[in-house]
Amino acid sequence: MASKRPGPENVNELRLRSRQAYLSKREELKLAELRKQVADEAEEERRARDRGIRLSEAELKEFARNRETLRLATERLNIDDGRTGFWIGNPEDRAEDKLEVLNKRRKGEEYKSESQLWEDEVTARARAAQVQKPAREREEDYEFVFDTTQALKWDTELKSVDPQKQMLQAQLEAAEKRVKSIEEVRKSLPIYQYKEQILAAVAEHQIIIVVANTGSGKTTQLPQYLLEMFDRQAVKNASLSGKMVACTQPRRVAATSVAKRVAEEMGTKLGHKVGYSIRFEDKTSEQTRLKYMTDGMLLRELMGDPSLNSYSSVIIDEAHERSINTDILCAILKDHARANPDFRLIVSSATMNAQAFSKYFDDAPIFNVPGSTFPVHINYTVASEANYLAAAVTTLFQIHLSQPIPGDVLIFLTGEDEIEAAATNVEETIRKLGSRAPELIVCRLYSGLDSALQLKAFEPTPPGARKVILSTNIAETSVTLDGVRWVCDPGYEKQHHFDSRTGMDSLVITPISRASAAQRAGRAGRTAEGTCLRLYTKHAYYSELPESTPPEIQRANLSSVVLQLKSLGINNLIDFDFPDPPSPDVLARALEELYALGALNDGGSLTSIGRKLAEFPLNPLLAKCILEADRLGCVDEVLTIVAMLGESGALFLRPKDKRILADSARSRFSSKEGGDQLSLLNVYNSWAESDYDPMFCKENFLQYRSLVRARDVRDQLVKLCDRVEVAPSSAVSDHVAIRKSLTSGFFANAARLARDGQSYRTIKNSMTVWIHPSSTLNETRPRFVIYGELVLTTKEYMRNVMPIDPLWLNEVAPHFFKEGE
Ligand code: ADP
Ligand code: MG
Repeated sequence: MASKRPGPENVNELRLRSRQAYLSKREELKLAELRKQVADEAEEERRARDRGIRLSEAELKEFARNRETLRLATERLNIDDGRTGFWIGNPEDRAEDKLEVLNKRRKGEEYKSESQLWEDEVTARARAAQVQKPAREREEDYEFVFDTTQALKWDTELKSVDPQKQMLQAQLEAAEKRVKSIEEVRKSLPIYQYKEQILAAVAEHQIIIVVANTGSGKTTQLPQYLLEMFDRQAVKNASLSGKMVACTQPRRVAATSVAKRVAEEMGTKLGHKVGYSIRFEDKTSEQTRLKYMTDGMLLRELMGDPSLNSYSSVIIDEAHERSINTDILCAILKDHARANPDFRLIVSSATMNAQAFSKYFDDAPIFNVPGSTFPVHINYTVASEANYLAAAVTTLFQIHLSQPIPGDVLIFLTGEDEIEAAATNVEETIRKLGSRAPELIVCRLYSGLDSALQLKAFEPTPPGARKVILSTNIAETSVTLDGVRWVCDPGYEKQHHFDSRTGMDSLVITPISRASAAQRAGRAGRTAEGTCLRLYTKHAYYSELPESTPPEIQRANLSSVVLQLKSLGINNLIDFDFPDPPSPDVLARALEELYALGALNDGGSLTSIGRKLAEFPLNPLLAKCILEADRLGCVDEVLTIVAMLGESGALFLRPKDKRILADSARSRFSSKEGGDQLSLLNVYNSWAESDYDPMFCKENFLQYRSLVRARDVRDQLVKLCDRVEVAPSSAVSDHVAIRKSLTSGFFANAARLARDGQSYRTIKNSMTVWIHPSSTLNETRPRFVIYGELVLTTKEYMRNVMPIDPLWLNEVAPHFFKEGE
């Protein structure tokens, strides 16, 4: 086995070969791939025939198409544009289409894909946020070929651990793992030694604070300890029996993956004794005693039952993240504890200014659990990296091809789009390297991800292989990944930023704080010595990264939260006991917005509309659209649009060699009269008509994953509607009703075409804005529109644009336009 794996000495040769193979064999590779696919499909057809199974019509059609494509390709009937090799299109594509592609390419008129536009946006946004680093534009259609010229240079030599030593250590670990029972693993966690002390403190104090390193056992163990304790007490105190322990998480992925792990530890099925509850998904039952949930879900439950009667105790986990919901929970539960002497609260965190928190909780005792970690070597790049995504992939292969196995790699990226792009890149490179490189398993970790795929990241790496985990900052402290020896940290994350002046709320790619950087690095040293590779210079670390990130409550739009607080009966927000109060401007802005929506009356208290809006786990704007749709009789359609708006960003695919086709597929759904919102409705309805066929998505260049998510969200919303007495209704052809309903939520986002016939001015404050190039209305440019969101790039672009009749504005939001217009 050892002889097959490339040692550091022949890595350069490998790289060279891979590049040569790539350059000379590009076309053949494409063809070879297709040939293999056609052969596989023929085999599948044959097997199905032998067994008397009938393949679906769509499958047969797809097979026939691939066969025909191969025939054309081998006959060289394809167009060779001399730049990207042969264009293997579909045989159905007309020759004119192909010519059009060719001509466009010759003239250099490349179309931009959705994801490229998005990339352009984030780049520009990062610039707008005054990021000092050079712009991180990506080359068009960046293709990764590993060669020495691309290797990154580090400020110190990559520290190579003695491979022999590491191999031994791995074998030892594996052997230990095999013999250790779950019980023994639990007892080996640092927090176990403090179990009795912590429980004694809990008995004495209502609120305690626990600070321990990631992986110490806070999330998996503390709730189990509390449950044991309350079960013992329930023998004497019957009022405690059957009550649940809740453990809140700021992130969905953490809640679900930890619940799964703990169900295993407790030997029960997930959803029985241990369950989880996250937005749009509830996996609990009558028997559930230990409930992992997002902080937002506990807040929602409080709205339904402010007495919190079903819980004996709550653990606010990951308190250092300072999410808005966590902050609010701290305030509410602190108050709840005062009135309920039996109630217990543990605030737990990986790193925290524990002193400040203890003070906030009236001098609650702090437990610092010392954690055992291994040293982590930190490397910086010697020069700034212009393209951090490419640099991260390069770094990965630098490690993979030169460093001993085992040793998993963890790469921090900002979101789903980046993770999927990087994963595709890595997978392609692995294929090109073929059997010349050791096995590399690619795992993803982000919140929208299918849960089966999420779990892959937690599975142990098989011997002889390496795992790379592409994760958002969820892997910073929320989940524990054993086996990571390498962390690659580009130094960015997505953050909410709200501008109370313009009312603009956006997710912006922002440099992380030095505190986050330290946490990320720490992930490399959990089970052995490790290395953290920072894709920025040491100078940048000190000059560009802030010491810590301000709490989310001071950065984000608060209208949802204010609505929730109001519906909890908390009316005086100025005196509310926030751990760190938001700015009065932002609070005022939220109140204004809710007032305009009709959720608050002149006296600032909740109206009946407001109470209904609060029932929906949605931005109040979206919930308002649904209520209006109820009035106008088009609930079905508006629910679909609301669910689809959340997925619109990554819905339309534009593979680089099929842009014309993808665009023409998209144009079949687009509605000039109804704009992007109605186009989304058309997409969903056509998919539903195909019986939710994945093949339909493939044929129409739609992201299947996004549509499935939209369907899930829609289903949940339908159930919720029932609860707030919104009856199903449908107005298939009444586009006016549908558009009016949407206008009733988004009226504040209205804009009118400017005299130049190109740009728009927002009606409320005459800001200049533009229709996003990806919009259906990019060329039509109607006189009046509303938009779903503004994104700031080189210009302020409106996304998800829909034409409206200006008269509707006064109709749906009379008090909003009273003074403005
Ligand atoms: P903390 O919350 O303090 O960061 P956790 O309670 O999440 O720590 O994890 C404690 C230990 O439990 C980890 O060190 C790891 O060994 C184990 N563990 C946690 N989650 C999983 C999982 N999904 N699969 C396997 N082991 C896990
Ligand atoms: Mg944890």
